[in-house]
Amino acid sequence: PSVRREFFHFQVSQKNTIFAVSKFIMSELIKEIERRKTFGIISHPDAGKTTLTEKLLLFGGAIQEAGAVKSNKIKKGATSDFMEIERQRGISVATSVLAFEYKNHKINILDTPGHKDFAEDTYRTLTAVDSVIVVIDVAKGVEEQTEKLVKVCRMRNIPMLVFINKLDREGKDAFDLLDEVEQKLGLTVVPLSLPIGMGGDFQGIYNIWENNIQLFLEEKKQKVGEAIKFDDINDPKIDEIIGAKAASNLREELELVQSVYPEFNREDYLNGDLQPVFFGSALNNFGVRELLDAFIEIAPKPQPKESDTRLVEPEEKQFTGFIFKIHANMDPKHRDRLAFVKIVSGTFKRNENYLLVRENKKMKFSSPNAFFADKKEVVDESFPGDIVGLHDTGNFRIGDTLTGGEKISFKGVPSFSPEHFRYINNDDPLKAKQLAKGIDQLMDEGVAQLFTLEMNNRKIIGTVGALQYEVIQYRLEHEYGAKCNYEPLSIHKACWIEADEKSEEFKEFARLKQRFMAKDKYGQPVFLADSSFTIHMTQEKFPNVKLHFISEFKNAQ
Ligand code: GDP
Repeated sequence: PSVRREFFHFQVSQKNTIFAVSKFIMSELIKEIERRKTFGIISHPDAGKTTLTEKLLLFGGAIQEAGAVKSNKIKKGATSDFMEIERQRGISVATSVLAFEYKNHKINILDTPGHKDFAEDTYRTLTAVDSVIVVIDVAKGVEEQTEKLVKVCRMRNIPMLVFINKLDREGKDAFDLLDEVEQKLGLTVVPLSLPIGMGGDFQGIYNIWENNIQLFLEEKKQKVGEAIKFDDINDPKIDEIIGAKAASNLREELELVQSVYPEFNREDYLNGDLQPVFFGSALNNFGVRELLDAFIEIAPKPQPKESDTRLVEPEEKQFTGFIFKIHANMDPKHRDRLAFVKIVSGTFKRNENYLLVRENKKMKFSSPNAFFADKKEVVDESFPGDIVGLHDTGNFRIGDTLTGGEKISFKGVPSFSPEHFRYINNDDPLKAKQLAKGIDQLMDEGVAQLFTLEMNNRKIIGTVGALQYEVIQYRLEHEYGAKCNYEPLSIHKACWIEADEKSEEFKEFARLKQRFMAKDKYGQPVFLADSSFTIHMTQEKFPNVKLHFISEFKNAQ
């Protein structure tokens, strides 16, 4: 990379020989890029994501006490409690991005909802991270939601670090768990630490990365003692500290690690081919500093991103960015929204003219927000890897690209096939316009997906969880003054169609499946299949009509 960077400097200096000033700005930009790490923590609910986030913030000095980060979990039973949903929406704005400084690194944690009804939100957020930390509960092992999320990360080759949590509790054997992670998640793991004992016998962690032992002193909780460094694993002091039996166990296990697992290699990790594993207990603040220190050393800086025409490098002078999340304002009387932009290249500046590429529209932002652990603030400048929040009155759509003027669009904010489908009907004929506008804007926000049947233009709402239908109904009424009702519909999956629309095969397919042909919000053709059997049969009969469960199928493969 350093060679590439030098070459880049060279190119830049060629271009800018006259502008000594802009060279100065470039080096400032490069410095800012080098020190940034933007990542997400993913886990099945209850594995300890919130607790770990909070402990990372404590280390960064961004918060002073535990309990400051509110969980954005949708509590059980919240389904019919609208106040609860609204409250949760507020919290999720507050915790959308948590930025802090640690050892001269600017760290941006992007929040990913664990609740499966909001999985789509998490998938989109994963387009804006440069790496992830996967949290796994030592007793529960790999759970359903972890599997789904890791699959998405693997598809995009996102570098992943695994943190096995709750070592203070009785759980699975470390090696069994490593096997499980490899098998169920399809990862190639390298343990960079090993637990010494577990549950009641849990004594601490051997840190393979730093070659030291960190003892677990439960009574001290938030204050972890200094790590004891050993250059030689056969040092008899280890026997004195953890006991002869545990010491010989540890030696055996370390030998096993050396013989069974590949050596850690940063390139492989960065390419998504190898995943380092750490053990600890977030609640007891144990193993968290080790995780964070290794993270800042190995995790990637802001990465280049593919657009429809070219690869955009963070070091480029021109600002580019894309919108991965839109959040409606908490106040229903004001319909303004907050759009979250991930900066891909250049410096984003307040009050500068930028191009919203899809609309070919120039826009200026007078109060862009930056997010910190405990506050959000208007900022003058932001850099690649950072997230800025832009106030929006309805111009933006998820996936939109903003640039300094170049007409490029970033790829890869995907929609996945929803799990639930219902017809949406207007319940108040006088409010048809409001309803249409409301549906349009809620879909722009990515609350759910809209499909329009080709034969009769009926509208179908697809969601990941049943909870969204209530959220939509409630918000249409309170924010847009419109009323709707739903009608059941038996659809199994939405399949995005890849085919030559002029071919006889496609025409025959479209004729036979007329009742199930629809368009998504962007006008892409979709086949709404009523069962997995239908999908199977269709693919046999029409081999050149390819069906995909993801809208961005072209670059997902
Ligand atoms: P999330 O749903 O993944 O955000 O999980 P939380 O961080 O809210 O944690 C779920 C529960 O597990 C909470 O009751 C935490 O106190 C508890 N927890 C988190 N980390 C640990 C740990 O290291 N040890 C133990 N014993 N409990 C933990």
